[in-house]
Amino acid sequence: LKEINGREIAALINSETASAVSKLQSSGTRPTLGLVVPTDDEATAWYVRSIKRAAEKVGIACITDEMAGASRQEVVDALTRLSRDPSVHGVMCQTPMPDGISLQEAGLHIAVEKDVDGANPKSLGLLAAGLVSFAPATAEAVVEILQHEKKSLAGARVVVVGRSIVVGKPVALLLLARHATVTICHSRTEDLEEVCSQADILVVAVGKTAVIGAHHVKDGAVIIDVGTNPTADGKLVGDVDGEAVVARRSSDPSTGRRGPSHHIAATQARG
Ligand code: NAP
Repeated sequence: LKEINGREIAALINSETASAVSKLQSSGTRPTLGLVVPTDDEATAWYVRSIKRAAEKVGIACITDEMAGASRQEVVDALTRLSRDPSVHGVMCQTPMPDGISLQEAGLHIAVEKDVDGANPKSLGLLAAGLVSFAPATAEAVVEILQHEKKSLAGARVVVVGRSIVVGKPVALLLLARHATVTICHSRTEDLEEVCSQADILVVAVGKTAVIGAHHVKDGAVIIDVGTNPTADGKLVGDVDGEAVVARRSSDPSTGRRGPSHHIAATQARG
């Protein structure tokens, strides 16, 4: 088993971003991200702090509209204002959303050209049409990781488990645009094990512990486990039973290998 080192990839991306930001600053633009936070959820507060830290590290300014208890209209107004503000270049809305408005509905009020987390359904439509657009950060992260692991995705057999509009669908569309042969699975898929076991690359975004076990995984496959499932002892685990995958490969003589050769990554540090 080879574990993919996401931190190394992140460091590389951060250094590229910092130099792009510095070029923009020298031409008089200070890249600025506007965050609307319509909740006082603790996990969200942690996530917002980590976005701010990450942005500041590369020179991006971050302004937050903390508006726990906001009404639907107040959220819409905040997103509209940031979208129209020429000094703000990217706009994001954090979940959970207040009653009466979904993230998709809120997303419609984020200008497509500032929709850096792909929350506007129009951004997904542009992606589906093969046009320039932003995809949700997690979906982009999956593709970044794969591009660092495999030189070309063209022709690779990819199975994406999960079809949500925040992960499964945009991941599938991004990989299709890179000429992978993509199959999307979901809760009604028949014989998930058989479909998954054909994959050169298996991307799992379900939100259920051990939904993928040893028999779902072909020898040599790259697995990206997007799932984040809280355990009773306060930890987070993915959707793939990694131990079972490793144990089977280590003991299966039919693979013709002494040890497992999967590449596995968990994208639990979002974006
Ligand atoms: P979601 O909206 O609940 O979608 C889950 C998907 O999994 C659905 O398409 C569902 O199928 C499918 N599914 C459910 N049970 C299944 C089964 N037994 N076999 C096959 N497919 C099944 O979840 P999400 O927002 O995409 O998130 C998925 C996971 O990723 C969660 O654990 C979430 O916390 C995590 N996540 C992680 C990050 C990160 O940065 N790491 C970011 C976002 C989300 P149907 O469509 O048929 O219902």
